[in-house]
Amino acid sequence: MVTPISTPQLPGTADEARQRIAENWNGVCRDVAQAAADAGRTPSEVRIVGVSKYVDAEITSWLVEAGCRDLGENRPQALDQKVHWFAEHRQDLVEGLHWHQIGHLQRNKVRRLLAASPWIHSIDSERLLVEVADHAQRRGDQVDVLIEVNVSDEDAKTGLPAAELTKLVERFLAQQPASSAPSGVRIAGLMAMAGWGTDPQQARPQFARLRELRDALAQQTGLVLPELSMGMSGDYAAAIAEGATMVRIGSRLFAGLL
Ligand SMILES: *Cc1c(COP(=O)(O)O)cnc(C)c1O
Repeated sequence: MVTPISTPQLPGTADEARQRIAENWNGVCRDVAQAAADAGRTPSEVRIVGVSKYVDAEITSWLVEAGCRDLGENRPQALDQKVHWFAEHRQDLVEGLHWHQIGHLQRNKVRRLLAASPWIHSIDSERLLVEVADHAQRRGDQVDVLIEVNVSDEDAKTGLPAAELTKLVERFLAQQPASSAPSGVRIAGLMAMAGWGTDPQQARPQFARLRELRDALAQQTGLVLPELSMGMSGDYAAAIAEGATMVRIGSRLFAGLL
């Protein structure tokens, strides 16, 4: 687990940190646009989720000031706490801001998390999917979710084994009422992390695998599944080349401060 840094722990002044974050953000935007162009894609197809788990709420707000509108957190408690901090201290930044739960989610944290109307990238079991759907439906919400798949074949990695993906989704869809009432979730696509310590060259086939799994699942179920959340600071160019629509970037954005 990461302990987020706060202003007194910064190497320099708050203003220097603000400026550094803005430079880092602009650099990442340029690189993402370049990677998209290299892949023959439109830069606007790739959403940059700024992973703010390394820093506290105030430092996170500087990333939003720089232009980031999607914030990813690993722990639902941290996400919830930052949502409240923004509501209290930086209401001016809240409009158009989207939250993303990217780390492992326990079922007993779902109800509280949904108050933030987040994207949930880390659905890794049918029970969790049902829990999210039930709570969202009770709220009258529809939550965008991604199913996290283990594409690295390492036991230690999180995510659903690829072989269980289709079964999970088909079972879930079969349980949905046939009425036109929307279910509490929209399964929007898939998410994956490349294996630990893999370099971008080794990560790329794993990203390709996630895209192929998405294409197959869309064909089997008739779901649209436009989203692929893959790629982090070390490997996002490879992920974009393989079709990522969301890249989750943390340490690159806070380089020089951590
Ligand atoms: C921390 C984290 C990231 C960001 O990783 P960086 O290498 O810091 O860019 C992305 N996805 C998940 C699930 C994470 O936990």
